[in-house]
Amino acid sequence: MPCIFTPLKIFIMLVVKFGGTSVGKPERMKKIANLVTGMAGKKIVVLSALSGTTNALVRIGDSLLATQQIAAHNEIAELEKHYQQFIKELYESEAYQAIGQEIVSRYFSLFRLLAAGKFDDRSYHELLAQGELISTELFYHHLQEKKIPARLLPALHFMSIDENQEPELEKISERLKPILETMSNVDILVTQGYICRNHRNEIDNLKRGGSDYTASLIGAAIRAEEIQIWTDIDGMHNNDPRIVKKTVPIAELTFDEASELAYFGAKILHPSTIVPAQKYHVPVLLKNTMDEKAKGTVISDKGSRGQFKAIAAKDGITAIKIKSSRMLLAYGFLRKVFEVFERYKTPIDMISTSEVAVSVTIDDNKNLNQILEELKSFGSIEVDTDQTIICIVGNLLSEKEGVLKEVFQALAPVPIRMVSYGGSPNNISILVGTAHKEKALTLLNSGLFNL
Ligand code: ADP
Ligand code: ASP
Ligand code: MG
Repeated sequence: MPCIFTPLKIFIMLVVKFGGTSVGKPERMKKIANLVTGMAGKKIVVLSALSGTTNALVRIGDSLLATQQIAAHNEIAELEKHYQQFIKELYESEAYQAIGQEIVSRYFSLFRLLAAGKFDDRSYHELLAQGELISTELFYHHLQEKKIPARLLPALHFMSIDENQEPELEKISERLKPILETMSNVDILVTQGYICRNHRNEIDNLKRGGSDYTASLIGAAIRAEEIQIWTDIDGMHNNDPRIVKKTVPIAELTFDEASELAYFGAKILHPSTIVPAQKYHVPVLLKNTMDEKAKGTVISDKGSRGQFKAIAAKDGITAIKIKSSRMLLAYGFLRKVFEVFERYKTPIDMISTSEVAVSVTIDDNKNLNQILEELKSFGSIEVDTDQTIICIVGNLLSEKEGVLKEVFQALAPVPIRMVSYGGSPNNISILVGTAHKEKALTLLNSGLFNL
């Protein structure tokens, strides 16, 4: 009896994701076609939308929700011009120019159709999904023109989230098996990052920056050899390069370290990217499309040396302090406080307690008023908005003394609202007002990294 499902690993070795800037210019799309063709073995190529497209689609969607039709139509026309120019430079032959033209016309007719109808949340998600659908279709036809064998693998056929917006990894894996079976004769499969179906089977997405998450979910689902995330920088840097002038790439990170950095604001990775890869021990390699020779960053189970590895910062944080004399010597108090946040499905990031008060931070203010109303029954409440969590990652509970001393010495001129240390062996979280973020990151860069 022949085996119906040969283990997937035999077919797919690599998952390779390219972000918006990596596909954002025709010459870059051509370059990644060469890059992928030069990689040995079978691979699933995950693409983002061309850079700027999702932002434009968000603006169009917002205008339509606000019934500002003219603004939406102007934005659609502007975006269409960009795509017209793009296909002119991407395809060489007349036949493929015509194919490109057909693709662009089809997508922009859809945008105008969506704009003409009743525009609701569902249409909004459908609109946002078109960025990845068009980029993959354009790329696939570029491969066709170059006679590079490839297939399109529609993400909406396998990528899904449940009613809590959580990806359904087992189902994704189950759905991928038979699809990949039918595509076993080609080495390059091209799929969309970011987009998925929700529990109502509607088109949805994995939140902004979600193509990284797609790559990791696929990598975990097929137990890939490696997940490669190609972007516009040479790997994870020790600090936020958008804010601090001198930053350096880090050669190695553990899954735990990378996970903390992604969650606490290192924009190079979607906050949840590492979770699926770590679950199945699939290494994640961060690479630079603009400089393929650069080593990049390897993220794996393997521990690496170095006390302070990197710093990230997450804005938009609200700190809530609950002060209550009832907390004194009482048990069960914290449970009651946490239950309030649980009821409103609001995750807590940092906690610090004293005998009579507890401070927590949240990054989702959607239900803040209701939460505060309920917390008032426990005692007096203080709220600070516009806060930033600075997350310092590394091998921080090592025997070496003075870890906190170095951090606080560096941060001496910055007022600190909260500190969390000891919860995980590789994280110190410090809460500061967002107005102090740049200063804090810069001081830590020189104090901890001599940069
Ligand atoms: P892509 O479009 O490829 O997904 P992103 O813009 O989402 O790329 O992520 C890459 C960007 O992340 C970099 O250009 C850089 O500005 C930013 N970034 C923020 N923090 C870090 C960090 N610690 N290391 C590297 N890049 C970072
Ligand atoms: N295109 C989506 C965004 O801009 C997803 C991604 O690029 O990762 O958020
Ligand atoms: Mg990104």
